Amino acid sequence: MLRPGAQRGLLLSSLRLQGSPGRPRSACGRQGEENAPLSAETRWKDRAETVIIGGGCIGVSLAYHLAKAGMKDVVLLEKSELTAGSTWHAAGLTTYFHPGINLKKIHYASIKLYEKLEEETGQVVGFHQPGSIRIATTPVRVDEFKYQMTRTGWHATEQYIIEPEKIQEMFPLLNMNKILAGLYNPGDGHIDPYSLTMALAAGARKYGALLKYPAPVTSLIPRSDGTWDVETPQGSMRANRIVNAAGFWAREVGKMVGLEHPLIPVQHQYVVTSTIPEVKALKRELPVLRDLEGSYYLRQERDGLLFGPYESQEKMKVQDSWVTNGVPPGFGKELFESDLDRIMEHVEAAMEMVPVLKKADIINIVNGPITYSPDILPMVGPHQGVRNYWVAIGFGYGIIHAGGVGKYLSDWILHGEPPFDLIELDPNRYGKWTTTQYTEAKARESYGFNNIVGYPKEERFAGRPTQRVSGLYKILESKCSMGFHAGWEQPHWFYKPGQDSRYRPSFRRTNWFEPVGSEYKQVMQNVGVIDLSPFGKFNIKGQDSVRLLDHLFANVIPKVGFTNISHMLTPKGRVYAELTVSHQTPGEFLLITGSGSELHDLRWIEEEAVNGGYDVEIKNITDELGVLGIAGPHARKVLQKLTSEDLSDDVFKFLQTKSLKVSNIPVTAIRISYTGELGWELYHRREDSVALYDIIMNAGQEEGIDNFGTYAMNALRLEKAFRAWGSEMNCDTNPLEAGLDYFIKLNKPADFIGKQALKQIKAKGLKRRLVCLTLATDDVDPEGNESIWYDGKVVGNTTSGSYSYSVQKSLAFAYVPVELSKVGQQVEVELLGTNYPATVIQEPLVLTEPARNRLRKKNGKDKI
Ligand SMILES: Cc1cc2nc3c(=O)[nH]c(=O)nc-3n(C[C@H](O)[C@H](O)[C@H](O)COP(=O)(O)OP(=O)(O)OC[C@H]3O[C@@H](n4cnc5c(N)ncnc54)[C@H](O)[C@@H]3O)c2cc1C
Repeated sequence: MLRPGAQRGLLLSSLRLQGSPGRPRSACGRQGEENAPLSAETRWKDRAETVIIGGGCIGVSLAYHLAKAGMKDVVLLEKSELTAGSTWHAAGLTTYFHPGINLKKIHYASIKLYEKLEEETGQVVGFHQPGSIRIATTPVRVDEFKYQMTRTGWHATEQYIIEPEKIQEMFPLLNMNKILAGLYNPGDGHIDPYSLTMALAAGARKYGALLKYPAPVTSLIPRSDGTWDVETPQGSMRANRIVNAAGFWAREVGKMVGLEHPLIPVQHQYVVTSTIPEVKALKRELPVLRDLEGSYYLRQERDGLLFGPYESQEKMKVQDSWVTNGVPPGFGKELFESDLDRIMEHVEAAMEMVPVLKKADIINIVNGPITYSPDILPMVGPHQGVRNYWVAIGFGYGIIHAGGVGKYLSDWILHGEPPFDLIELDPNRYGKWTTTQYTEAKARESYGFNNIVGYPKEERFAGRPTQRVSGLYKILESKCSMGFHAGWEQPHWFYKPGQDSRYRPSFRRTNWFEPVGSEYKQVMQNVGVIDLSPFGKFNIKGQDSVRLLDHLFANVIPKVGFTNISHMLTPKGRVYAELTVSHQTPGEFLLITGSGSELHDLRWIEEEAVNGGYDVEIKNITDELGVLGIAGPHARKVLQKLTSEDLSDDVFKFLQTKSLKVSNIPVTAIRISYTGELGWELYHRREDSVALYDIIMNAGQEEGIDNFGTYAMNALRLEKAFRAWGSEMNCDTNPLEAGLDYFIKLNKPADFIGKQALKQIKAKGLKRRLVCLTLATDDVDPEGNESIWYDGKVVGNTTSGSYSYSVQKSLAFAYVPVELSKVGQQVEVELLGTNYPATVIQEPLVLTEPARNRLRKKNGKDKI
C-alpha cells in the first residue's frame, strides 16, 4: 500500500514522476477551495428511523436527502471518517452521458444538485463544467453515437454529435489524424469528491441528520418486529431500517445479515501531471476527453492533465484477496502500489492523441479500490429475503451517481415505491447463482469492457454458464446462440449447418436475421419448441392466499383450473410487475414471472404478506421446475400423441391449466403461449427436462417439429401486440396508457394496491398512449428507446421493436401523446441518424390463434 506521491523517481518514457505527497486535489481546483473536515458529533441516539452504514459520497447523499425530505431520526454511522473509502481519492468525473436509459435520470439529477449545492450549504464543492467529448476514430463508433443520440433525444440531457473541426476548436491540443466525430455533452465535467461529500454532510446536519464517527458497525441483529439492533463499540441503536452503504466493505456488512453480496474491489489508477505550458496558455478549461479506442479519460487538472485508463480484462487487477480474507483491518485512506507497466499501452495511446503529454512530468499516481458488481451497475434498493435491509452498494462511478441515487432511494423509502423505473439497479437481479467465481470473472470483463462499443442485444460471455442452466443446456448449446437471463442460458436463435453461427452484434440487421425468420415461419405454419425454464416460479397457498392475491393483483382471481395475466401495481397506480397466475387447486396458486423479475416480484409479495399479516406459505420454486413451450398450428396434434388427456379446443380451453402426464412425465400444462399461436407451457421437474424434450421432438417428427428461440418469440408477440413487462410497462407507466385495460378490474370488490390512484388517473384522462407502429426502413430495425419525432420535435419514444416477418416491415411499440395516437397517424422514428416515416396501425397486426378461432366459429366455419 502506498500513499500518493510516494513513488518518486519512476521514469515512464519521457514522463517523469516528481511526487507530490498528500491527498489528490480536485481538478483545476483553486487553492484553498477545500472544506475543512467536519468535527465529529458527540450525540448518540438509541432509536433511529433509518441507520445508514458508511460515510462515503453515497451514504452521505442519502442522509442529506432523507433529512431534507423531512425524515426524523436519520443516523449515519461511519467507522473512521467521512470519505475514508473510495470517495476521497476519486477522479471526480461527472457526466450526463449513460448508455442505458434510466441511469441518465440519475446522472441528470446529480449534476443539477451539484450545481446548486455550494449555494445551499455554503460549502465549496470544486465543480467544473467544461463539457466532455467522446471521440470516435472508427465508423462503428460513429454508428454507436447515432444510436446513442436517438436514445437520448427524449431525455432532458443535452447531447450532440460534433464534427472534427468543432472538436479541434474545443480541444486544440488534440492530434486530429484519426478523429471522425465526437459525442459532446455540455455541462459535463468534474467535482472534488471530498468537498462534495463534506457539502452533503453539512446539508444533512443542517436538516437534522446525525452523522456519527468513528462508529464502526460490528453487528446487526434482527428483531421479530422487523426492526434492527445496530451494534457499535460506542453503543447499540434500534433502527426501523438499515441501509448498507459501506463501499468496498459492503460484503462484510452483508455477511452480518447472512448475505453474500456479489461485489469485488478492483484497482483503478490515474496519473496527474505537473504544469504543461500549452495547457497553462489556454484561455478556457479543456473539455473532458474520452478516447474510447484508447480506453482512457483525460481532463485538465489545474495547469496540467489527469489521465485515467481502463486496462483490458487480462491486465486489470482484481483485489480478490479482499474477498477471501476481507478488507485488511485499518485500510481506509490508503492506496495500492501504482503499476505503470499495466497501463503503458494506454499511456502511449494518450501521448499520440494528446502529444503535449510526451513532455509532461507526473506528479502523482493514484491507485485505489473501486467496488464492482458483475455488471458494473450498483445495487440500490430493498433486498429480498431480509426485512428492512436496504443497500446502496457496488458503485463503480459513485461520484456521478451519489446525488441522483440519494434522491431516488430517499423517495423510495419515504413513499413506498421507486420514483421511477431503475430496474437495472435492483439488488435482487442477483441470486444464489452469483458465486464469487462468477463475480470475479464478470468484474474483470466489465472493467475491461468499460469503453467497448455498446451494441443492441449485447451479450457478454465471461463467467458463463453458471450452475443454474436448464436441463436442456447440453443438448441445445451447440445448436443455438444463447442469451443470459438471471443466471440461466436461454436460446436466442438457432442456426442450421452452414449458417454463420457467430455472435455478431450490429446496429443493423445481422447474421441472425434470416434464421429468426425461419423460426418465425416454423411457429406460424408448423410447430416449434422453446425452453422457457428461466421463468421465475412461485407456489402460494394457505388460508389467506386468495385474499392476498386479491390485494396484490389488479385482475380477478382465476377460477380453479384456470390461468390469467395479472398485474401488481404500485400505490401510485404504476405497473410494478406482470405475472401469470394459475389457480391449481382451491387456494393453491402457481405464479409465473419473467426471468429477470424473480426476486424483484418475490420481495414485493413477501413484504405485502408480512405487512398485512396474511396466513400464507410462499415458496420460490424457480430452480425446481423446468418449462417447455410448444406452439404452432400442429402443437395440439403433436402433444395429443403423448397424453390421454383430451386436448381439443372445447375440453382444454385457452387459459385452462391441468395436471397431466406427457408420456409418463408429470407436468402442469397451461394452454397459453406468448407467441399468440396455439400452444401450451409445460411445467415439469427440472430433472425431467431432457426426457420431456426428447419425447416431444420424437413425437413431432412427422409434423417437422423444430426449435425456436426468444428472438422469434419477440417478433411473434409484437405482431400480436402483446406488451412486455420492462418495455411497454414498468414503474414509469400506468396500465391504462399501456393499453392493459382488459386486465385491470377497477370494479372488483377488493381494494387492490394502486386501485384508488388508478381511478384518479382514469378520471383525469390520459396524456399519452402506447401505439403500434409500422415503418419501412432499409437494414435497421427499432429496438426500443428510440426517439419519436413529429413536426420537427421529439414527442415520444419506442419501447420495443422488431422486424415483422409477416408484413415485411419494421414494427415497434411506442408512447406518443394521445392526440397522435389515432390509427393512420404519421410520425417518424429516428434510427441511426435517419428519421423514418412510421404509421400508427390498428393492433394487433396479426390476430392471435384464440381470436382467429373465435372469428372462425362466429363465421360458422369449423374449428381447426
Ligand atoms: C482511482 C479512482 C478514481 C475514481 N474516479 C471516479 C470518477 O471520476 N467518477 C466517479 O463517478 N467515480 C469514480 N470513482 C469511483 C468512486 O470513487 C466510488 O464509486 C465512490 O466513491 C463510492 O462511494 P461509496 O460511498 O459507495 O463508498 P466509499 O467511499 O468506499 O464509502 C464507504 C464508507 O463506509 C464506511 N464503512 C465501511 N464499513 C463500515 C462499518 N462496518 N461501519 C461503519 N462504516 C463503515 C467506510 O469507512 C467508508 O467511509 C473512482 C474510484 C477510484 C478508486
